[in-house]
Amino acid sequence: MAKRWIVVGGGVAGSVVAARLATAGAAVTVLELGVDGSTPDDLHEAASLPGRTIESLLVRRIDNGPLVTYTSGSGIGGGSSINPGWAARTGPFHHPHQLPLEGDGLQRRVLRGGSRVSVSDVYFGQVPSGVSLHIRTGSAVERVMFDNGLACGVELGDGEVIEGDFVVLCAGALMSPALLLKSGIDGDGVGRGLQDHPSVALKYRNDDQRPQGSIQMYRTGQIQVVETVIGDEFWVVPALMRPQSSGAVTLDSESSVEIQFRLCQFERERAEITNSVNEVHAAQSHLEPIEVPGAGEETEWIMQQIATTTPVYSHASGGCAMGSVTDRCGRMLNIDNLFVVDASVFPAIPSVNPMVPTVQLAETVTGRWMAEGLVSN
Ligand SMILES: Cc1cc2nc3c(=O)[nH]c(=O)nc-3n(C[C@H](O)[C@H](O)[C@H](O)COP(=O)(O)OP(=O)(O)OC[C@H]3O[C@@H](n4cnc5c(N)ncnc54)[C@H](O)[C@@H]3O)c2cc1C
Repeated sequence: MAKRWIVVGGGVAGSVVAARLATAGAAVTVLELGVDGSTPDDLHEAASLPGRTIESLLVRRIDNGPLVTYTSGSGIGGGSSINPGWAARTGPFHHPHQLPLEGDGLQRRVLRGGSRVSVSDVYFGQVPSGVSLHIRTGSAVERVMFDNGLACGVELGDGEVIEGDFVVLCAGALMSPALLLKSGIDGDGVGRGLQDHPSVALKYRNDDQRPQGSIQMYRTGQIQVVETVIGDEFWVVPALMRPQSSGAVTLDSESSVEIQFRLCQFERERAEITNSVNEVHAAQSHLEPIEVPGAGEETEWIMQQIATTTPVYSHASGGCAMGSVTDRCGRMLNIDNLFVVDASVFPAIPSVNPMVPTVQLAETVTGRWMAEGLVSN
């Protein structure tokens, strides 16, 4: 009989993992918190659909900052259902992936015939008929269950228990560490090393009459800048792509999840993003400003923006670092049949937009499972 694999989360990594496992003959059940179905091409519409973002997700972005909303994709496709699919190429891609890419260099995106396509559309679309792949949406996993030191299944929020021979957490960088902690796994490194790309949006009146919805990207060193037109505003968004700072996912005394990014703790990071804001502002000085820092107040303004506004970049990574929390197969150290495969296993945040690297990670890890003979009947 085929081994039963439970994949928690049908997002970017979960879609790749489930498709690869089912195609190889495993009996796969995907348990996804959000909804199913494809999303509209319009990004703002897609992100506002119920079940397409994790509801009431609050995080602290900087030390002693307030709790603010964080946008994290939900439903089948996860982040890929609501993101623009930027897939900037800054070096050769060494690992395989099946995603259709259009555009060159920094303007490269995951697109098919000019339209957005989610990772689940691509990977589930390639699964042959007749395989054992069951996708359950509206299924919030509460914790992993154990028997004799091995994972034996998961418990859903409504108390239902689903048994399996293997459990793979693909719930993303915020939720996979949280699930481990809620399951009583709090060993070295679990939840630590959480990172994001800090970004700020400078807003100007669109006096140059750039076309509605246009998006351009450029990069100078460690800073990636997105320029976009939203309504009659022109936004310029610099982001720091190699941050040093990291935070953590933890449980408080009442077992509630706390998420702290602790962005821009270091002077170097604050200086780099301040320089980029000054450069942007100098380049756009002919435009009427709507939301920009006052002269001499750039760093305070940047930290205030990072602390209090929902980020333009939602690139959470880390929390279950491969090497300290998992082995090279995403396997939890000391729990042979429990795996984590998603953006949480990056030991350091990718210095590019993280979706394609997350797919490549899932391809690489499932390839290692096949090589180990883990998926044979
Ligand atoms: C608005 C936005 C824009 C972005 N833009 C880009 C971009 O242009 N280019 C790029 O490369 N990256 C972009 N990203 C980042 C990219 O989408 C993520 O890096 C990627 O989705 C991470 O993949 P993942 O598999 O780790 O997690 P996700 O894709 O987030 O998948 C995790 C899944 O697990 C589910 N889940 C969570 N908890 C549970 C639970 N308890 N039970 C069951 N299911 C659960 C979630 O609902 C979700 O579907 C963007 C992200 C956002 C939110």
